Amino acid sequence: TTDSATGAAPSQARQKPLIRDEKKRDSKTIARSYHLPPTTNLSTHDITGPTLHVQKGNGIYIYDDEGKEYIEGMSGLWNVSLGFSEKRLVEAATKQLNELPYYHLFSAKAHDPAIDLAEGLIKIAPWASKVFFANSGSEANDTVVKMVWYYNNALDRPKKKKIFSRIKAYHGIAVGSGSLTGIPKNHADFDLPIKNIYHTSCPHYYRYGREGESEEEYATRLAEEFEKMVVEQGGAEECAAFIAEPVLGAGGVIVPPKTYYAKMQAIVKKYDMLWIDDEVICGFGRLGDMWGAETLDIKPDILVSSKAISNAYLPLSCVMVADNVYQVLVTQSKKHGVFAHGFTGSGHPVACAVALEVLKIYEERAIVQHVKDVVPHFWEKLKTFEGHPLVGEVRGIGLIAALECVKDKATKEAFDAGLGVGAKVAEFAQTHGLIVRNLGDSIALCPPLIITEAQIDELLSRLSKALDDTLEWVK
Ligand code: PLP
Repeated sequence: TTDSATGAAPSQARQKPLIRDEKKRDSKTIARSYHLPPTTNLSTHDITGPTLHVQKGNGIYIYDDEGKEYIEGMSGLWNVSLGFSEKRLVEAATKQLNELPYYHLFSAKAHDPAIDLAEGLIKIAPWASKVFFANSGSEANDTVVKMVWYYNNALDRPKKKKIFSRIKAYHGIAVGSGSLTGIPKNHADFDLPIKNIYHTSCPHYYRYGREGESEEEYATRLAEEFEKMVVEQGGAEECAAFIAEPVLGAGGVIVPPKTYYAKMQAIVKKYDMLWIDDEVICGFGRLGDMWGAETLDIKPDILVSSKAISNAYLPLSCVMVADNVYQVLVTQSKKHGVFAHGFTGSGHPVACAVALEVLKIYEERAIVQHVKDVVPHFWEKLKTFEGHPLVGEVRGIGLIAALECVKDKATKEAFDAGLGVGAKVAEFAQTHGLIVRNLGDSIALCPPLIITEAQIDELLSRLSKALDDTLEWVK
């Protein structure tokens, strides 16, 4: 007989164990030998291995394989809002794993975690009538693309298929969602975007507002430009939907100018399009309200969320639809005998059980109120960075922010991209025990929502050291 995994005789298999002795592990070599990491420069990784080997988490902190502590200034990937050691979530997952570790929801099957979570979500988003579950933001946004097309086919509007997103938007990485994303690197050589997806301008006043133009005037210009694009693309007959993150996240933490959403919503309405609100980052308190839509006065037809929904402990995302959309899906499903869309992991009971516990924690600990309480302190301190010689703009809202590093503060001239100034800030921050993410030369901050004022001070003091180091380096 042979060992089923290696094909070797059992004795040989024992001599060459697949799992190496912990003490002998050269983790850097192993990491670069087998793993193809996501969103990474593979050529650098092949030589240097990982940039950080994370081993433990506690509250807002993570620890590397040498025991060094870091403040997680990005909540992982904008998602671990309740921090890295929430025992109640571990208990909820364990309990569910013991009771019913998996069951699917195809063909009208049900289990408590999914139906209870759906109810809980509609309670906090009462404008929506139904929730569909997926595993990632990308899957949720691919679902939305299909839903928009299906919806218009159901309404016998076969030409109404064009979906508008924005340059610098991030909506995910799968074929549909990756097309909605408006970041060139995510398209290059992946043959994206697919047809029927268009990108209008990125609403960043600091970068693209004109000399002497007010925020409101800039918003009007953007709305007019969008309307022109819609008209050129066939107007109401062909244009189906507009998708937007309330605050653009991975594109650089960009809060649109005043009056922008009111003006954009008027156009979306005028051409009978759907408003898709991507709250994968902004949902669950990040901007200081449960939804970014509340903070920025957006009225969605479809809302997508993920990340903080389960505190990222397990993959989960949701697509919430207003009743007018849902009823059309019902009609079409009558025609075909099924709404033929769903994932094996849709409404995974363990992920849903964790998310239900997350919702309870939000309520019991008044997390949104906590955000409102610490936000004035966060911004008072953060605004002082406007005085730093490297910082051109400090922007954001609630507990999400970015500092844009520039070569010349007066002219806003950017550094040569090849210099990698933003990456350097992130690197120095890491040496000072702080994880931030550079989006080009903008340094993003998105700390766990449980952060205290004292921890905010510590985070910003580490960031300040990193900026000072970078200033020396760049001279
Ligand atoms: N939408 C937004 C706004 C995001 O920020 C992200 C991920 O960062 C996604 C969608 C995609 O989510 P996922 O990475 O879970 O596919």
